[in-house]
Amino acid sequence: MTHNFGAGPCILPQEVFKQASQAVLEFNGTGLSILEISHRTPEFEAVVDETVRLVKELLNVPEGYSVVLLQGGASLQFSMVPMNLLGEGQTAAYLNTGVWASKALKEAKLFGNVNVVASSKEENYTYIPKDFEIPADSAYFHYTSNNTIYGTELFDVPETKVPVVCDMSSDIFSRVIDVSQFELIYAGAQKNMGPAGVTLAIVKDSILGKVERNIPSMLDYKVQIDGGSMYNTPPVFSIYVSMLNLRWLKSKGGVAAIEKENISKSEALYKEIDRNSLFKGTCRIEDRSRMNVCFVMENPELEKPFLKFAEERNIIGIKGHRSVGGFRASMYNALPITSVHALIDAMQEFEEKHRA
Ligand SMILES: *Cc1c(COP(=O)(O)O)cnc(C)c1O
Repeated sequence: MTHNFGAGPCILPQEVFKQASQAVLEFNGTGLSILEISHRTPEFEAVVDETVRLVKELLNVPEGYSVVLLQGGASLQFSMVPMNLLGEGQTAAYLNTGVWASKALKEAKLFGNVNVVASSKEENYTYIPKDFEIPADSAYFHYTSNNTIYGTELFDVPETKVPVVCDMSSDIFSRVIDVSQFELIYAGAQKNMGPAGVTLAIVKDSILGKVERNIPSMLDYKVQIDGGSMYNTPPVFSIYVSMLNLRWLKSKGGVAAIEKENISKSEALYKEIDRNSLFKGTCRIEDRSRMNVCFVMENPELEKPFLKFAEERNIIGIKGHRSVGGFRASMYNALPITSVHALIDAMQEFEEKHRA
């Protein structure tokens, strides 16, 4: 068995891969492949409907919000958010907690003013800034709930009266959230929801239609919502596999149940990092992510040998991002706890081997 700790695209359940491959051959009694069926057929419309319904059910999305499936990844949301919500001359507040957050605020500058309310850049994003003010006249406040590259996570929504926009690409569906605390949530699917190619947005309807600018149809939330996520040909296969994965999540007991598993998995690995004399974590303890666990070695010369040692045990995808170095173990929903134990065992054996 391969233990896939890759940061994204992520591991998905084996049963989802099996069902998805079956549908490539023959989809749901239609005599056609999921790859050749028209997206306008009742059979495929049912897939979109069920996907949207599962998102609403699993995240307990309240009335007054639309769930829409888009393309272009989270990166296109960096532009779409300000295009739809930031009027010319207005200012949006951004919290800079990493590369993704800074890419988001860079795009927003194309459409209005950006106020970076706090940043942890000077310490290589190893913590989440805590004491910052969000001016009451901000058009919205944007933050990244989980910093995939640095391994930090914000569990509490910062207090503010302005609309809150959140990039949840790498921790959506990993823990219970209160959608009513947000005006807009977005996520590229490939970190915890499904394969690359589809992007989820959950939008409070009342925030739309307030900016003057002309918005291209494809980039207008209202047009996409009114089109039922099918303004143009949607990423049919990515949506189908996401639906299968959300069904799997529901069968596991939903988000609250998977959150418990995610807590157990991350606690087990952090405990070993803190205990093992060869390794150390890179982030402030109170800001540690449950999804992406970043750590390095006390002796950097042992990092390459450990990577090889782990690979020999079928542990893959743990090389850290180049801007942090060391290791990053991503533990998305579908990663079984047995994989976490395989990594912990490897760390312990390696420690034994290198004990002086
Ligand atoms: C991966 C990631 C992105 C970029 O996602 P794309 O879908 O590749 O554009 C943005 N934000 C976060 C938090 C991510 O983890």
